[in-house]
Amino acid sequence: MICPKRTSELLDLHLAPFKDKDPAWEVGVSKIAGRGVMATRQLKRGEIIFQDSPLLIGLAAQEEDTLNACSICLKMLPDTRFMCRQGCGLPICSLCAKKKQHKSDCDMFKSWGPNEPDVANSVIIRLLCVARAINLTKDQRDLIYCLQANLDNNHRTEVRNAAKCFKNFPTDKKLVEIMNRTVAVLRTNGFDKTTDRTTDNQEFSYRALYPLFAVMNHDCIPNSYYTFEEKTNNMIVRAAVDIAEGEEITTTYTKLFTGNIARHLYLKMKKGFTCKCPRCSDPTEKGAYISGLYCRDTKCSGLVVPETTGLPHPNWNCLVCKQKSTHAQMMKSQDFASGAINAKVNSNSLRTLVHYLNEKSDSFIPSSNYVVIDAKMSVLQRLAHGREDCNEDLVSSTRLRYSRDIMQIMDKLGLGDSLLRTQLEQQLHKEEERRAKKQLELAAKQRQLADLEQRAAEADKLIALALAADDGAAAAVPPVPVAEPAALAPIAGEAAALAAPTAEQA
Ligand SMILES: [Zn+2]
Ligand SMILES: [Zn+2]
Ligand SMILES: [Zn+2]
Ligand SMILES: [Zn+2]
Repeated sequence: MICPKRTSELLDLHLAPFKDKDPAWEVGVSKIAGRGVMATRQLKRGEIIFQDSPLLIGLAAQEEDTLNACSICLKMLPDTRFMCRQGCGLPICSLCAKKKQHKSDCDMFKSWGPNEPDVANSVIIRLLCVARAINLTKDQRDLIYCLQANLDNNHRTEVRNAAKCFKNFPTDKKLVEIMNRTVAVLRTNGFDKTTDRTTDNQEFSYRALYPLFAVMNHDCIPNSYYTFEEKTNNMIVRAAVDIAEGEEITTTYTKLFTGNIARHLYLKMKKGFTCKCPRCSDPTEKGAYISGLYCRDTKCSGLVVPETTGLPHPNWNCLVCKQKSTHAQMMKSQDFASGAINAKVNSNSLRTLVHYLNEKSDSFIPSSNYVVIDAKMSVLQRLAHGREDCNEDLVSSTRLRYSRDIMQIMDKLGLGDSLLRTQLEQQLHKEEERRAKKQLELAAKQRQLADLEQRAAEADKLIALALAADDGAAAAVPPVPVAEPAALAPIAGEAAALAAPTAEQA
């Protein structure tokens, strides 16, 4: 285990710009694994615990990413002529091209001689974050060496592949070792962030190393959450729930809405450990049933959940009839449901997808299942960009319903605050406000109408009386209560014209 004291000293140096004299955290021995970040005092939900700045940051240049983003400010660039004119093989904006950081990147990569400097190469662009470790100070590099690194067989692949893209890639063992170590640390504790889709459907992601964040341990129900300051890319970590003094501050390395087995596999394969948090130990996931499926016995209405989560292929049990199923059997159901729902997610019609989720999917997959949650999240995301082929009422009811559904699952899991919760609450609030306003407008219209009807009735009475008075003198004819509709219409119209301003004033 790496010494917590030395780690703390190096972290203090790294975080010095934030000048936090009385930090709410300290590095200590963790009950979860090795060392972790502990609360030095009681923390209130929403309170800032710490800020962290990226020690290393760069474009992730993954397969699905567009490569025309600036290697310094990470902003999108026009899709032609975005490469550095100096021949370093990096995309750069005109402003950042003059910055000191690019001079350092540019000199390094030019000296290595990229094979095709004018062509955007994802391997070269991806390597920059790693290669920047070479130019860090000794303390900063020591901090990297203080962080957990999964030194498995694959951690050398990235640098080895990158070497092929340059004519004079360094052969110095020490430099190569620094880069390999940095890759391993980034893979274990680095941070990957995909940008929100830009308007023309391009997206890119970046990877970064936030050292204090990297010391935090994982929990599938984290007690903290983070946001970013756009200008600096600094990370702000807040308490998601009230945290007691001495309690470990945790984050999550996985997506929140994945089932126990998927999370177990991800953590095992990517992060090299088995999570033993309360959510992972509970097959129902605190009653949220994220991986729940229907019983294979069609007469039974029970939910089926995996017997245990620490195995890749567990048996599954029905919670009602107790029937056992094999993992393969249940995966067949899951694959069928995922295929059917994802086909609708990928179709162009949002209305069809919403209709399918509201009317059809419930017959073959429980609404708590992650594939349904994911589909609802994607609907909300698409609605945030426009209403596509849905009418206003459908947009409104869908926003309300899906936001509530997802928040309900978050509550079941015991998830506190998060960026997602804030967004959902905002949507819900906006939608409720819109509905309330609409209802007020409707009530006012109804009052107006009632007023008009009353006035029309009064007018009718007056007309009947006047007609009766005219006729009464001539003969004893029974009084005519109503005028001919044709004759009444213009009078009622007048009454309406008279009533309108009064009703508006009301
Ligand atoms: Zn830039
Ligand atoms: Zn350059
Ligand atoms: Zn867990
Ligand atoms: Zn059953």
